[in-house]
Amino acid sequence: MPRSRRKAIRRSASPWGQPRSGRGLSASRGSARRSAYGRNDGWLVGPTWLYVVAAIVIFAVAAAVAVVQATGSDDSTEPAVVQESVVAQGEQGQPQQSSGSVEPTDEVAQPASPVEAQQQTQHEEQSEAALEQAEQQETDVQETLDYEQTDEQPAAPVDEADNPLRGFLVPIRGACITEFANHLPSANREYRNDGVHEGLDFYQWASCTSINYGTEILAAKAGVVVRADLDYVEITPVDWQRFSDANWEGESILDELRGRQVWIDHGRGIVTRYAHLSAIADGIAEGVEVQRGQVIGYPGESGQQEVYANPGTDIHLHFEIRIGAGWLGQGETPEAARQLYLQAFGLAD
Ligand SMILES: [Zn+2]
Repeated sequence: MPRSRRKAIRRSASPWGQPRSGRGLSASRGSARRSAYGRNDGWLVGPTWLYVVAAIVIFAVAAAVAVVQATGSDDSTEPAVVQESVVAQGEQGQPQQSSGSVEPTDEVAQPASPVEAQQQTQHEEQSEAALEQAEQQETDVQETLDYEQTDEQPAAPVDEADNPLRGFLVPIRGACITEFANHLPSANREYRNDGVHEGLDFYQWASCTSINYGTEILAAKAGVVVRADLDYVEITPVDWQRFSDANWEGESILDELRGRQVWIDHGRGIVTRYAHLSAIADGIAEGVEVQRGQVIGYPGESGQQEVYANPGTDIHLHFEIRIGAGWLGQGETPEAARQLYLQAFGLAD
């Protein structure tokens, strides 16, 4: 397209470019082009001025708007994302701060008016990214709050290396800690003349994961195997009658009731016991060093009546953390003992 024709079209399309005579509008397209060709040089002066003036005006208006925004609303120039964060946090029922700072403050997100709330909710729905940011911020803040609450406690933060009762691995992969009092340390064992349970039981139906003859039992911590019943002989009905006659009392009978066992010495008076095993893992023997998480055996029901009466109906791991002559949870309620085990496993502070 010839340059002169482009200029002509541009000029006739612009309100500033209309000829003062008015001929541009009333004339036919053909005559307008002719007029443009003929008066090309002269027309440049007028419109150019207008362009310059218009540009100045537009620039001035834009600058004015920018100044008003900058001076009139310090807070609202902050990204809307922050507001949306407040809404998202508020809907989750947790008072949260509205800034990016992780310092907890007394500020609580105030409920907006219904209309404002609706508008903010719409904003929120439009921005998944904002919601994710809000959740991350909430997590950060909660961690800070947790830290500060802990910091107010007189107890120093627990260092696993300095506390022999911390840093244990749950001995069955994926298992949770039972909430059944009967499975917990210090649970009453009336049949033992008010004896108590000295460990923690992992049953499939109470421990969140499959537990059967083939499930791997893991060393809860690095240590040295101090007992591995490699030559274990299963109990018989005659043994069970002997236990019954003794009212299930006495250390030797209690030991027989724990069936096939592995014990691991972790030093500093701490020993873990793994009882009722159906088998002991290859390579595990007295004197062998094991690493935390190493497979040491497999669950069963050895030492229990079910092993000959109803095989497969009482498969579980009985696990103890021994402390010198005593055991973790001794003298506590089962619930308190459970908490101590949660701490030992790093599942509670
Ligand atoms: Zn038990």
